[in-house]
Amino acid sequence: MKPSFEKNKKPGKTGIITAVLCGAAFTLAACGKDDYRLVNSTDTAMGTIISQRIYVVSGNGLKEETDGKTDQEFAPDRDILNMIDTMETDELSWRIEGSEVYRINSQAGAPEGAALSSELSELLDICLDVSEASDGAFDITIGDVARLWNIDAWSSGGETGEYILPPPEAISEALDNTGYEKIDMENGRIFLPENMSIDLGAVGKGAALDRIEDYLENEPSVSGAVISVGGSVLTYGTKPDGASWNIGIVDPFDTSRNLGVVSLEGGWCISTSGDYERFVEVDGVRYHHIMDPESGYPADSGLHGVTVITESGALSDALSTACFVLGKERGLELAEKYGAEVLMVGDDGEITMTDGMTEIFNLSNQ
Ligand code: AMP
Ligand code: MG
Repeated sequence: MKPSFEKNKKPGKTGIITAVLCGAAFTLAACGKDDYRLVNSTDTAMGTIISQRIYVVSGNGLKEETDGKTDQEFAPDRDILNMIDTMETDELSWRIEGSEVYRINSQAGAPEGAALSSELSELLDICLDVSEASDGAFDITIGDVARLWNIDAWSSGGETGEYILPPPEAISEALDNTGYEKIDMENGRIFLPENMSIDLGAVGKGAALDRIEDYLENEPSVSGAVISVGGSVLTYGTKPDGASWNIGIVDPFDTSRNLGVVSLEGGWCISTSGDYERFVEVDGVRYHHIMDPESGYPADSGLHGVTVITESGALSDALSTACFVLGKERGLELAEKYGAEVLMVGDDGEITMTDGMTEIFNLSNQ
């Protein structure tokens, strides 16, 4: 059985109270006949760590009734991992030949454009909306600039030796190939100017959460789950004991510990962007992976980390990147436009939160 569950418009105190009450009712019912099996796993996909905790209601024959699998045969974490892998290889990767994004990029400049699936079209609509709302601080055409800095390869050990900063002329040339407003989409086709490419690195993990949530909604024997795809986390349904989901927010000054936790009911996506995730240091200066599309340099807006909570994973992921580029004041304005809850950690350690966030965030003991 599955508890009926209503999302609140925004996370907050009322949300937690709802979750606790639902959970209490659920626990009582659960005492009747249901048992829960916890599926717990950690894997790698989309170039990041995927960790899953999924509660499966077992012992009620529900799974067998719906698709003939016994409770024990049902491995939702494997299904989800395959889904993330497929999403990366077939749709989102700019690196993998054969993905939709790769094909679109290789057809840049073609007068007939490139065919666009409805899934990718929906995701690009979110991206372009955030680009416009953020005055271009978020821009999926940043690919050429990001390749030039090549921070991903250097921070993961794919390149060794001395890191040489890209020369300013190369940066301004790469910037010529950017600009989200030059993208056209119509009648299921996308038109990119010659030499422009799209890079969905800032939204892919959040978009994966949306796909995972759709999958879970079609699996009635899953009662609750918390799933993280790199810096983006989905809460789904309820825990067997009715408690809230507690999601740790990494301390950008010491990534081995949590700054604190947010307590949420199911149905929320929490994305974090920070300059501590991928970077190289040269002469004591940190060059990281989030670019300011205005300058072509790593964003330097006074923030060290940004966490955003919305119901949509793609949106929370896009907004965390956008707010990081915009900095405190403009980032808060952007979050407000979308009704998102935000926590920002400044370079000076100052923590800034939206009102709703103050109600669900608990700072760790220092
Ligand atoms: P995230 O970790 O979600 O903030 O996303 C960072 C990734 O998004 C980078 O590794 C780049 O691939 C891409 N990216 C960097 N800067 C931007 C930007 N200003 N707008 C959109 N995507 C970006
Ligand atoms: Mg992001």
